[in-house]
Amino acid sequence: MQEKILKISACFCVALAIVACASFYYLPKLHDTRLSFGMEQLEQFILTKSENSGISAINTDVKANFPQQLRVELPAGCDASQVEVRQNYNSQTVDLIIPTDEQEFLYEKPLVGSSKNISDVFMDYAGGKAVIEIVLNQVFETEKTCAGKYLYLDFLSPHEIYDKVVVIDAGHGGSKPGAIKQGICEKDIDLAIVLELKKLLEQNKKIGVYYTRVDDSNPSFDSRVDLANKADADLFISVHNNSTTGPGLSKVQGTQVMYDEKKPDKDSKDFAQICLEEVTKSCGSVDKGLVAGNDIFIIRTAAVPVALIEVGFMTNEEELTKLNSNDYQKKVAEGIYQAILRAFEEGY
Ligand SMILES: [Zn+2]
Repeated sequence: MQEKILKISACFCVALAIVACASFYYLPKLHDTRLSFGMEQLEQFILTKSENSGISAINTDVKANFPQQLRVELPAGCDASQVEVRQNYNSQTVDLIIPTDEQEFLYEKPLVGSSKNISDVFMDYAGGKAVIEIVLNQVFETEKTCAGKYLYLDFLSPHEIYDKVVVIDAGHGGSKPGAIKQGICEKDIDLAIVLELKKLLEQNKKIGVYYTRVDDSNPSFDSRVDLANKADADLFISVHNNSTTGPGLSKVQGTQVMYDEKKPDKDSKDFAQICLEEVTKSCGSVDKGLVAGNDIFIIRTAAVPVALIEVGFMTNEEELTKLNSNDYQKKVAEGIYQAILRAFEEGY
């Protein structure tokens, strides 16, 4: 009996050892597409992917013979114009999608450059495409230049490109509709106003604008604020609509603007006042004044001048009809646009 138990435990130990060895073999493979720079900022690095040790970055003293921040050597037959550079400002990532049949490409062609604006790199190969995802530590505009077999990338902060930078946030979205009154969702009105504002801002090439959403998505509160903070926005505006509490409709109507009462006035209250004046002037709504809003996450955590505009009351039948009309949405957008221009004139 004892012998049998011994045999079973021996078999169990061997099995365990096999599983352990196998997991040691596979464990690095699970991570081999990722490199995290963490706090380490390499002035000059060579980044390569190898079969055994995953992605590694080697600090090098060799001075780059190119002025850009990052150089990617392309696989044979791949022209730099075929490389798709997909920027996602909300996640601060840049995807390089490189068409190639060379599955070994990522092992053979190291990235060379500086990691000062990069916090992480992912590499993957699937379906005839090598994908390099670069995670940036701020919002950057990626500039691509091509020369022969090399693709060069530069990461420029919005302020290096534009005179002024604005982040616009349409409230709610996706599965979070905000208030729903008479079958109309707040998220749709918020977005419609922002899309009208976008048309106006697109005509002004001096202002760089980033949007937390331009469709029916619902970014997290963290990512909304991150976009404003990591773009170092001069102004951060969130567009919402109001409701009175309790069931049914009410006579209360008008525009309110929320600000952070715990920030110095110029960082929120003064800007909120500009928004209030310009929106009520443009769309003729009742001035319902400023409202302290430090308990609202995106207001409290914004490190840049912030205002949250509650354009109108969806619980007021007349105002709801207006808010749902494209004419009125355009007037609101014009008011917000004028508020942005005026804020810049006043030194923001
Ligand atoms: Zn709302």
